[in-house]
Amino acid sequence: MDRAKSLVIVGASYAGVQLAAAARELGFEERIVLIGDETHPPYQRPPLSKGLLTGKTTSDQLALRGPAFYEENRIELMLGRRAQSLDAAALAVRLDGGEVVEGGWVALATGARCRSLSVPSHDLEGVFSLRTLDDAQRIAAAAAKARRACVIGGGFIGLEVASALRALGVEVTVIESQPRLLMRGLPPTMSAWVDQAHRQRGIEVLNERAVRELRGAQGRVTGVVLGDGRTVECDMVVLGIGVVPNDEIAAQAGLAVDAGILADRVGRTSAPRVLAIGDVAHMELPPGPGTPRRMRLESIQAANDGARAAASLLVGREQPSQAVPWFWTEQFDLKLQMAGLALASDVAVVRGDMASDRFSVFYLRDGVVAAAHSVNKPAEHMQNRKLIAQGARFSPAQLADESFDLKASAPIPKTP
Ligand code: NAP
Repeated sequence: MDRAKSLVIVGASYAGVQLAAAARELGFEERIVLIGDETHPPYQRPPLSKGLLTGKTTSDQLALRGPAFYEENRIELMLGRRAQSLDAAALAVRLDGGEVVEGGWVALATGARCRSLSVPSHDLEGVFSLRTLDDAQRIAAAAAKARRACVIGGGFIGLEVASALRALGVEVTVIESQPRLLMRGLPPTMSAWVDQAHRQRGIEVLNERAVRELRGAQGRVTGVVLGDGRTVECDMVVLGIGVVPNDEIAAQAGLAVDAGILADRVGRTSAPRVLAIGDVAHMELPPGPGTPRRMRLESIQAANDGARAAASLLVGREQPSQAVPWFWTEQFDLKLQMAGLALASDVAVVRGDMASDRFSVFYLRDGVVAAAHSVNKPAEHMQNRKLIAQGARFSPAQLADESFDLKASAPIPKTP
């Protein structure tokens, strides 16, 4: 084993762990070092905004892989260590404390951090962000004593936390700056459905509201003052106002960075033998009608598939990911699964009854199924992913007709 050929991975969450695993699966035999700044062994994040808050999941159920996995695959975990800088020419990562780890490849899987709220008194006690297990445990402890909570931001984090807090009996107000919930990820029809679902389940939703400042007493938050002067009283505030990529190390090392580290479809950056994967990677997408050239996809699927593609580069058998992007969220009794990237200009077709909370919405682009959102229809979601991958063509009438079997009807394939 040649230490100079080893793989140094900075960031020990989904992308970092998957890269290490896939590299071994594909036969990468050199040393692998996985550096993470948290002290917990790599863990699953989706339960942090759901079961971990309601108590349905405990922290000991969250391990991403058991300890044997790291041992058997000879993956050296360096936990509680923060990478301070990268020397891209020397492929050397300097850690806090001054230690330098050198490799033949460096993979940056540094993820993203929560955006902070820049209004007066944003740093009062009782104001939380949610990204890590420690954050979730602090929120769960505060929720156990809270009567009223304000959730600032109506994205995935905000809405999942709102539903978990409501399940604990906390009164919740969601404050969103945009005109509608989940505006970044969902078209208007679905936003409207999510909005109604939350109101029906007891959440107060305030769209298009600016937060002017936070109010407190004895250092603890007591309310959120809105742009229109109204104060929403609360004992705790959870921020879900988006994330910022941790791309500073890359930028300082001279890599091309633009709201994330620029990377091709196998994670190659502008520096030789330096890769970027996961939330921090502003990665190229497979070409398709209306698809942006590159995007920073903040999802577990993108982290895993991007890492597998990067592993293929490491072993010299380059294979970019062809995967259809998919995401999911669980709020109350609702499981919303999203396949493909829907655009505002797509033709939306509803299949099923939206009021029944079991339906799909298909998005047609030039007659082709480009994306689909399903609620409480997991089997249909799996099928929709296949239809999108095949470039299936259906008419709006066929998609809307529940008696028309989409699976059995051979879709007209993509034209080359
Ligand atoms: P997000 O999806 O970007 O949503 C944040 C929302 O808050 C946006 O609509 C944003 O509007 C709004 N906002 C920003 N500043 C605000 C302010 N001062 N007052 C009120 N609203 C404000 O981000 P997130 O929900 O925080 O999620 C963070 C990360 O976790 C993302 O990477 C997300 O994909 C990931 N996550 C994913 C899932 C899932 O896939 N199920 C679940 C949880 C978390 P602007 O667009 O104008 O900024």
